[in-house]
Amino acid sequence: MPGPLAPLVDRPSASGVFTDYDGTLAPIVDDPERAEPLPGAVDALARLARRYARVGVISGRPGAWLAARLGGRGLVLSGLYGLETVTAGEVVAPAEATRWAPVVEEVAARAESPEGPGAVVERKGLAVTLHVRTAPDRQGAAQAWAEAEAARTGLDVLVGRRSYELRPPVARDKGTALREAAAGLAAVCFAGDDRGDLVAFDALDELAGAGVAALRIGVRSPEMPPELAERADLVVDGPAGVLDLFVQLLR
Ligand SMILES: [Mg+2]
Repeated sequence: MPGPLAPLVDRPSASGVFTDYDGTLAPIVDDPERAEPLPGAVDALARLARRYARVGVISGRPGAWLAARLGGRGLVLSGLYGLETVTAGEVVAPAEATRWAPVVEEVAARAESPEGPGAVVERKGLAVTLHVRTAPDRQGAAQAWAEAEAARTGLDVLVGRRSYELRPPVARDKGTALREAAAGLAAVCFAGDDRGDLVAFDALDELAGAGVAALRIGVRSPEMPPELAERADLVVDGPAGVLDLFVQLLR
């Protein structure tokens, strides 16, 4: 096959296919609990997993959440931006992260209390996310609140699509997750739609420097960060474009 997918399609047994979840498999919706993959996307991933050496989803969602929707299909699943991995149905996080659980719990409780920023609070176990998608007037307040809580507790702030996440200050992200998942492969692609995916592109840059055929796939949306488009080797339109790519990889 000619084109940017050729290194993957030509050697599936030495290739890996990786993607984010929200905005790449599932359209972005107001209520994150209602984000469902496009019809056919999960089936395509399962088929890819049977043909390619490694196929995975690297997401900001909790590992258990990913396992419930995508488990049992031979996929590599990484949750909470690389903090969690799902191994044989079990969610694993490093001790340096799990020891922050009580701190995250306390911050989550404060976020939900009258002292909180008035954002939608998503408890994710080892992280807590403040969503302002449905309350854009709370964006400044949510950011200031998250930064103040980070300064008070030592947690890190991760800025996402209309969201601020407080999480353990551990050097794990989608880039570290992708580096581990892609170890030993000759060709690797990753599809992302958001700022948090740029570190996965960094990982692909490093792999490319080491001789791996690396393909950075940017997934377009009205909120696509310009940097993602600039750094992508290939830009596709939303989850439908990703699914189309999967179909091409299965030809
Ligand atoms: Mg995303």
